[in-house]
Amino acid sequence: MIEKNTKLIFEKSGTGKRGYSLPPLDVPEVKLEEMIEEDLIRNEIPLLPELSEPEVVRHYVNLSMKNHNVDKDFYPLGSCTMKYNPKINDKIASIPGFSMLHPLMPEHSVQGSLELMYRLEGFLKEITGMHRVTLQPSAGSQGELVGLLIMKKYHNHKKNIKKYILIPESAHGTNPASVILAGYDVISLKSDSRGRVDINDLKSKMNSDVAGMMLTQPNTLGLFEDQIEEICKIVHSFDGLMYMDGANLNALIGLARPFDMGFDIAHLNLHKTFSTPHGGGGPGAGPIAVTEELSRFLPSPTIDKRKNGTYFLNFKLDDSIGRIHSFYGNFGILVRAFVYILSMGSDGLCEMTRCAIINANYLKKKLEKYYNIPYGDGTLHEFVISADKQKERGAKALDIAKALLDSNFHAPTVYFPTTVPESIMIEPTESESKQTLDRFIDSMIDIDKKISTDIDKIKSMPRNTPVRRLDEAKANRELNLKYEVSE
Ligand SMILES: *Cc1c(COP(=O)(O)O)cnc(C)c1O
Repeated sequence: MIEKNTKLIFEKSGTGKRGYSLPPLDVPEVKLEEMIEEDLIRNEIPLLPELSEPEVVRHYVNLSMKNHNVDKDFYPLGSCTMKYNPKINDKIASIPGFSMLHPLMPEHSVQGSLELMYRLEGFLKEITGMHRVTLQPSAGSQGELVGLLIMKKYHNHKKNIKKYILIPESAHGTNPASVILAGYDVISLKSDSRGRVDINDLKSKMNSDVAGMMLTQPNTLGLFEDQIEEICKIVHSFDGLMYMDGANLNALIGLARPFDMGFDIAHLNLHKTFSTPHGGGGPGAGPIAVTEELSRFLPSPTIDKRKNGTYFLNFKLDDSIGRIHSFYGNFGILVRAFVYILSMGSDGLCEMTRCAIINANYLKKKLEKYYNIPYGDGTLHEFVISADKQKERGAKALDIAKALLDSNFHAPTVYFPTTVPESIMIEPTESESKQTLDRFIDSMIDIDKKISTDIDKIKSMPRNTPVRRLDEAKANRELNLKYEVSE
């Protein structure tokens, strides 16, 4: 039973309650005024909550139970790869030798960590087929920006004058945002009837003003862009560069490599594909991999190895776009990715990809009798339902998503991509068993049936969650932590 109306921790406070006990003072007492300037010292004691240890623990455990998370149940959030993250990777990242490092420690005292980053770069080079990788960007979106800045530097070096970046209309919102930040303008490309890039539209828009193209592979519909070689040829023929949004690498590892497809730059989301829990804006890592030709533009420092076998941070990079993160990025996430890749091995990673693809195709096959799946030809790791038929019977994509919450599932992504009406985007990932997938299928079929037989019930769901249907715009604008549930 989830506690419904949680009081604020301040309201639970009671004077004199303590969560700790300190030993008697065994050093000379010093007056505060002798250590801190007097006008900086508070006059009043701050109003911090006073509680016992179990009260604090229960408060936060209860709060955490109000949220859905991947350790609780299925989280089929399309586009975001919310897969299970093995706990051993967290454990290893928190070994004091990693977690207590100071970023200013002298190079000779952190050889192990430098080696870890160097070898992780090696793994990612192997996975992408690229020449070099920077581990610094702290998110996929920052990787995009870095990739575009590298593109810019490349064109400046060649004295190319370029203004535009091509992006398919189904792209993730971060793509156009990165383009604007990098100082280019976006040209949007249409999709064809198969949900892939419309080659004729590309041909008509590609010219020498275009700096390059950003393409999500597999794309936002979960489909492999199977004309990728032709696309690259067209863009390269005007000295444009190909950028791969590789946030969906979960569908490719071990089966296909960005370099072999003709891409020049690719970002990877370690916090999606390589075992870092994400959501809620937690720290991430979005390394980018580039071809040999572009390697000299990578952010500084790179992590390099001397002839004598020691590792060092190389700041002597004349053509680098410069520094893009303090120190070397989010190191703890790099440790998790390194451990994950080592523990899976190349066979294991290949198997992971295949399972992600099979799981998505199993769900799609079981649901296609009940739901319209307009672009289901060639599904890889995710697929997009259109709830247009359900809408005719009175339930929108949002209603279906809300109803799923009562079965203890996180809702799939809805209303994205915008190219599919009433879209519901489902990504099961490789970590789910057939039993879990079957439970989800049963719920989806049950919801479809109830839309015909008991639409009022569907509209009144969720019933079992801490809050029911919020006015979402209001909830976003006027955050109210004391939201009272009206039954
Ligand atoms: C998640 C995602 C991004 C952005 O990654 P962040 O790490 O959230 O910045 C970009 N493109 C696609 C396709 C994604 O799924």
